[in-house]
Amino acid sequence: MERVDLYKALEVSKDASQDEIRRSYRRLARKYHPDANPGDRQAEERFKEIQHAYDILSKPEKRREYDEGPRTFFGSQGAGQPGGADFGDISDLLGGFGNLGDIFGRTAGTTRTAKVRGENITVTVRLRFKDALNGVTTRVGVPVEEACGECRGTGAAPGTAPLTCPECGGRGVQSRDQGFFALSTPCSRCGGEGRIIEKPCTVCGGNGRVRRNKQVKVRIPAGAKDGMKVRIPGRGSAGRRGGPAGDLYVVTRVEDHPVFKRRGDDFVVEVPVSFVEAVLGAQIEVPRPGGGTVKVRLPAGTQDGKQFKVRGEGAPRAKKNGAEKGNLIVRVGVVVPKKLKRREREILEALAEERDEDVREDLFKKVGS
Ligand SMILES: [Zn+2]
Ligand SMILES: [Zn+2]
Repeated sequence: MERVDLYKALEVSKDASQDEIRRSYRRLARKYHPDANPGDRQAEERFKEIQHAYDILSKPEKRREYDEGPRTFFGSQGAGQPGGADFGDISDLLGGFGNLGDIFGRTAGTTRTAKVRGENITVTVRLRFKDALNGVTTRVGVPVEEACGECRGTGAAPGTAPLTCPECGGRGVQSRDQGFFALSTPCSRCGGEGRIIEKPCTVCGGNGRVRRNKQVKVRIPAGAKDGMKVRIPGRGSAGRRGGPAGDLYVVTRVEDHPVFKRRGDDFVVEVPVSFVEAVLGAQIEVPRPGGGTVKVRLPAGTQDGKQFKVRGEGAPRAKKNGAEKGNLIVRVGVVVPKKLKRREREILEALAEERDEDVREDLFKKVGS
C-alpha cells in the first residue's frame, strides 16, 4: 500500500486544530460515505482512508505519536501497530462507522466539557397574615448544591487530580456497533464524565458538590397571596463547569386569619348586626385587615347576608407593586335575640298586631295552592 499522509487524507494542514480536523472529517465522510456512493470502489477506498486518518488525528495522543514517528502509521505497515488499522477487510470498514455518531449526533467530545446549568430550587415560606398583607423581608433556608470547597469541585482528594478515563479516552461515550450504524452510550467506566477519580475527596465523596443550607434574603411583596410563586433568578444551585446558577422559587403559605378571608385581592368579613340595626338602619364600625376600624352605613331594611363594599380596604395588588388595593367586603349577619326582657316583648307584640303582615303569601302563590 502506498504511503498516505493523514493530514492530506483529511484535507487539513499539519497545524490544524482538533476542531478543524473534526469538521473536515465530517464533511469528507459525508461526501464519500458508501451510502452516498453505492458501488463506487474509489469512494469506498477514500472513505476508509478518511476514517483511518480521523481515527488517529482525532486523538491527541495518537496524533502526537504520528507526528513524531509517522512510519508506524503508514499503510499495511501500520496493521497491528498501536492505532493502526487493517484496510483489507470489509468488516473493518463497517466497524469504522462507529465514528458516524460524530456526524449525525452531537459531538461526543463535548459531553464532558459542556456547561451545565444549576438546578432550580423551590422552597416554601410561611407568612403571618400581617406580613403577607404589608410585605416583609425574610430569610429562607435554601438547600443549594455548591462546588465542594475542599477539592474545589474536582471531586479528587486535595493534592490529587482526576484522570482522563482510559476506557473512553475522555470522550465520555462508548460507541457500540449496531449493524451499519453505531450507538453511542455513556461510558460505563466513568459514567459519561470522561474522567475518573482514584482518590475521592472525603468531604464530597468524589462528587465535587456539597449540599448546603444557604440563607437567602427574600422580599415578599405587600399583598402576597397564599400559594404565590416568587422567582429569584440565579439563587438556585450553582452551575457546573462554568454553567449559570439555577433559579430559586419561593412559594408563599399565608396563615389563615380567623376573621378576614382572602378572595382575590379582596378580603371578606362577616359582621353581625342586631335585628334592630338591620330594620332601622345604622352606622356600624367594622375591623380593617390592616388594623383599626372603618365605618359602614347600613340602610334601613338591610337584609341578612347583604354585602357592602368598602373600597381600597382590601389587599395591595401584588402584581401592581401594591399601588392599587382590593376592597373589603362586609357581609352582614342579622342576629336574632334568643331572650327578651318583658318590656321588649310587649313592644314587639304591639308591633306584630300593628303590622298584621303575611310574609309567606308569595311562597304559597308560587306553590300553587
Ligand atoms: Zn469513560
Ligand atoms: Zn470535595
